[in-house]
Amino acid sequence: MLSEEIKEFLHEEALNRFLRYVQIWTTSDDHSNSNPSSQNQFDLGKILASELMELNLENIVHDEYGYVYGDLPASTGLEEVKPLGLLAHIDTSPAVSGKNVKPVIHKNYDGRVIEFASNPDIRLTTEDSPNLKKYIGLDIVTSEGDTLLGADDKAGIAEIMATCAAWKKFSELKHGPVIICFTPDEEVGRGTSKIDRKRLPDFCYTLDGSEMGELEFECFDAWKATIKFTGLSVHPGHAKNLLINAIHIASRYLSEIPDYESPEHTEEREGFYYLSELSGTVEEANATVIIRDYEEKNNQKRMEYLQKLGELYEFQYSGLKVNIEFLHQYRNMLQFIEAKKEVVDLAKKAIEMAGLDIKIHAIRGGTDGSKLSEMGKPTPNIFSGGLLFHSRKEHIPTLALQKASEVLIYLAELWIFA
Ligand SMILES: [Zn+2]
Repeated sequence: MLSEEIKEFLHEEALNRFLRYVQIWTTSDDHSNSNPSSQNQFDLGKILASELMELNLENIVHDEYGYVYGDLPASTGLEEVKPLGLLAHIDTSPAVSGKNVKPVIHKNYDGRVIEFASNPDIRLTTEDSPNLKKYIGLDIVTSEGDTLLGADDKAGIAEIMATCAAWKKFSELKHGPVIICFTPDEEVGRGTSKIDRKRLPDFCYTLDGSEMGELEFECFDAWKATIKFTGLSVHPGHAKNLLINAIHIASRYLSEIPDYESPEHTEEREGFYYLSELSGTVEEANATVIIRDYEEKNNQKRMEYLQKLGELYEFQYSGLKVNIEFLHQYRNMLQFIEAKKEVVDLAKKAIEMAGLDIKIHAIRGGTDGSKLSEMGKPTPNIFSGGLLFHSRKEHIPTLALQKASEVLIYLAELWIFA
């Protein structure tokens, strides 16, 4: 059990860091092809690299792509323990502005409606976030309502940094070698595209989950279909039996995707198709459909459906070409983690030791851990504590910052004997 002194230290350390980090603008840009996708991610990366130095980490690198790495040497005598990797991401979602975030602490939350100083149009209620009912009596952090908060994932970063600070200050907290990595561009799906996998150990954890106690080690199997419709333009006055109107046919084709298999009509373990882009003219139309399911075989069926439908449309509209390319974006991490189950078991135990109920949850999306697990480095996702991510109503109880840090301390202790 951790002493009250250590717990208080973790709370203050993680909170102070969190309040500082969220004020640094790190929104990623899904329309950019550069790495990182936005230059401002370097600003936080630079600060993190210099703070890791103060915390006695070694081999610190802040590379040209925006990644930050650092190695924390083991406690004396534990140099041979299997190294443990801890990751969190630097960027925030481009879905909502993350510029000039002004964090507000709502002390001793009593279940009331939370109002936002810079946005009278929105209010945060227990209907929006039922977890708030469990957080009565705690301090809750929000933005002023004109931006997201950025707990996703600056909470994860603050928790990892606070844990390093505790390891430095309290020598009785034992740990093997720990490798830290902060990634750019997770929110635009490129968090591991330029990662230096040689720097990472065989087992890692991301701190990028949601409510306190949550542990995730299953994610979607994810595909992207890029569909190109090629038609033929003819003057509409002379078009009979000649014109092949690509954009109009594309809209008919896309309307045949089952409505009940859309994100807005599915939950829990149900998969979906999601039309995310459509553009075009009479001559050519292009659509992007992403396909998600926990079972790869269900996604195979969806892809077969799109393919067969394309063939049917080519038959129906003579001269039309429908070309579909499928890209496998990431796989369900469960299959890679199941073989190394101890990585999950130790995390469960650490969460219990921090006095929390474990909430096992399958991610309806992916994390940096999806790709890392596929690369042979099983990487479950531990809670960072934030709720209503990617929203102006995003919030986090300050206790979550402390609890996630406690989990990391217990986890490192458990790894000594793993
Ligand atoms: Zn995240």
